[in-house]
Amino acid sequence: MQLIDGKSLSKKVQDYVKSEVEILKTEKNMVPGLAVVIVGDDPASHAYVSMKEKACKNVGFYSIAHKMPDTITQDEIINIIMMMNKNPHIHGILVQLPLPSHIDTNRLLEVINPVKDVDGFHAYNVGRMVSNLDSFVACTPLGVMKMFDEYEIELEGKDVVVVGASNIVGKPMASLLLNKNATVTVTHIHTKDLASHTRKADIVIVGVGVPSLIKEDMIKEGAIVIDIGINRLESGKLVGDVDFENVAPKCSYITPVPGGVGPMTIAMLLENTLHSAKQFGEKI
Ligand code: NAD
Repeated sequence: MQLIDGKSLSKKVQDYVKSEVEILKTEKNMVPGLAVVIVGDDPASHAYVSMKEKACKNVGFYSIAHKMPDTITQDEIINIIMMMNKNPHIHGILVQLPLPSHIDTNRLLEVINPVKDVDGFHAYNVGRMVSNLDSFVACTPLGVMKMFDEYEIELEGKDVVVVGASNIVGKPMASLLLNKNATVTVTHIHTKDLASHTRKADIVIVGVGVPSLIKEDMIKEGAIVIDIGINRLESGKLVGDVDFENVAPKCSYITPVPGGVGPMTIAMLLENTLHSAKQFGEKI
């Protein structure tokens, strides 16, 4: 069994982004900029935003966090996003999800200029990704693809089961795998017999939010298991969706939680923002 080390791969990507920022500064006098919009006081969301701000600082990006109370109206948030769309120092705009229930998330995501949509959630980018065209891709599934690349894990012809079908994790994950010619099964809360699918899979990718959902008897010998879930137990311990201790010995590769997919998400956000600055920075 080999651990897929997201922490060190994330560092490698961040070091690359940092060196590219230096080149952009010297050659084009340009600093990539990321704006984060966060609404309400959800502690987990604030923790994620702080991590993103720290990562931006670390690679030399300019970053702004618009922190707003949950009494803010949808129109007020739209105005802020539109300001960021016009701001030439901002190359990436990210709306931290989830949003309070009085806000129409899809409506807000559609206001972001697609060339600054570094989270890849705008329907324009989703459509291009599904069509296997150049686009911004959601950071978590993109981070998983980067792991496959780094560990030279071949996807073509593989039976892959994706557990979880959200717009930000499972669905884009499935599209990216399909674009690499894997045979993809997408499962979710309404799937009748989850184990009957996962047991046949060469690769299982799970992003659900249920601790220990994937158990030893649900995985075939030698399978590759990617755990996207992040769950905080009452004890304070952070765990994924896989019963790691018992599943790991059966796997050829597995990602740990923490230190697996989580750090890759931030690395991909930085890479997407760098890409936006390089590709569109002189036009916006
Ligand atoms: P979500 O609630 O939007 O979607 C959950 C999905 O899991 C749904 O499709 C649902 O049908 C499915 N599901 C729920 N219970 C199930 C069950 N018992 N069996 C099979 N499928 C089931 O959640 P999300 O935003 O997609 O996040 C999923 C998990 O991934 C969470 O733990 C979240 O914290 C984590 N996450 C991690 C990262 C990262 O950077 N590693 C990024 C985003 C989300």
